[in-house]
Amino acid sequence: MNNSSVYQKSKDEILKTGRKYNLPQDKLEEFLEPDRILEVKIPIKLGTEIVTFKGYRIQHSNKLGLYKGGLRFHPKVNKDEVMALSLWMSLKTAVVGVPFGGAKGGIAVDPKALSEKQLEELSRNYTRKIYDILGPEKDIPAPDVNTNPKIIDWMADEYIKIAKENKTDLPQNKLNAAFTGKGKNGLDGRVEATGFGGVTVLKELAKKLKLNPKNTTIAVMGFGNVGYYFADFASKEGFKVVAVSDSKGGIIKKESNGPLALDIPLVMECKLEKGSLAGCYCAGGVCDTRGGQMITNEELLILPVDILVPAALEDVINDNNMQNIKAKIIIEMANGPVTPKAYHHLTEKGAIIVPDILANSGGVAGSYIEWEQNMKDKKYKKEEVLKRLEKMMTDAFENVWNESVKNKTNLKEASYLVALRKILG
Ligand code: NAD
Repeated sequence: MNNSSVYQKSKDEILKTGRKYNLPQDKLEEFLEPDRILEVKIPIKLGTEIVTFKGYRIQHSNKLGLYKGGLRFHPKVNKDEVMALSLWMSLKTAVVGVPFGGAKGGIAVDPKALSEKQLEELSRNYTRKIYDILGPEKDIPAPDVNTNPKIIDWMADEYIKIAKENKTDLPQNKLNAAFTGKGKNGLDGRVEATGFGGVTVLKELAKKLKLNPKNTTIAVMGFGNVGYYFADFASKEGFKVVAVSDSKGGIIKKESNGPLALDIPLVMECKLEKGSLAGCYCAGGVCDTRGGQMITNEELLILPVDILVPAALEDVINDNNMQNIKAKIIIEMANGPVTPKAYHHLTEKGAIIVPDILANSGGVAGSYIEWEQNMKDKKYKKEEVLKRLEKMMTDAFENVWNESVKNKTNLKEASYLVALRKILG
């Protein structure tokens, strides 16, 4: 592993926590290594040519239950990144208290460069390549960056096709449980679950810190599944979401007495119409292209807001910009958006950073409810799903908060402690 290995940095941090709290080193070291690394090549036809993509599925740990974790389609997907993401899944499932372990997968591909037909072929071929290690009682994938219910439906369909070719004795409802985040046979509330869970954590934190939502400004980086729903639920709870961004940049609408709260559903409508956020300054019920300001993602990160929510990719708050970050609260909705060094630097300066393994664990909690719904052959209502999620997230937050108070430490170390005590027994 080289110096820039995200997995190695994460392991080092966890080992340090283990030493500080006298956790059994041998058990910890054994846990940190993934159980299985599967690398596959996935050939698909692009025009007259056959092009081969590289795919991964890494099963990190099943100490607390079945392997569970998302699938990412992105040009930067690589073995080291997937190893780190799979380790974080093992910790996350433990923090939020679902009986799952951790796994992660992905394909190194720019899905935007493929036609829908090519994307479907890639998704189905990947499923065939990793079929043997999947299953509703083994390993259950879900969506992540650039994968959505449509892609998951292709994979679930392919999985079920192969299972039937192989004369499976699993009934249909259990076969449906092989993937979560599905459109067909999915869970009402799963698509919102990660953002909803993050806002539950935000509300609990606001109570502890006695923040008044209507005076609390928020900037959200990333306007996909996680960022959009986070921004939407936070606005509905009365927080002032003043800036949002996607991969092409962000928007803010400033007035003389400070930035305006954006109308998040309208911003989304505008993004869907235009294809990106550029020019979508939607506040007070209208979108216009005047009065607003385009900002880069780097500018969004250093805005003087109360709360910063990185909800896109990892390592965006790092050595290069940590000195300039002004927000006193950061909620890590993406996985690994703050590097360990930046986390240390900012918390030393008094910032409160809610770590990813707590903040975005609503996604896997929602996936657990979806899996359970399919396994029990039931259909849950969205209101009951969100209610259950709220309880799971509130309990997880309370556990981590109490651990941090007890040990006079930051929320990341406290989350590690909560997770590792369960995993190491
Ligand atoms: P997504 O593909 O739906 O959205 C990603 C968003 O990030 C898009 O708006 C994209 O434009 C934006 N983006 C991409 N590159 C960017 C850049 N360089 N700068 C700014 N914005 C950029 O993905 P998602 O499912 O919302 O996942 C976002 C993050 O949340 C990831 O780290 C993922 O691992 C994590 N996460 C997702 C879930 C889930 O349920 N989907 C659960 C837990 C954690």
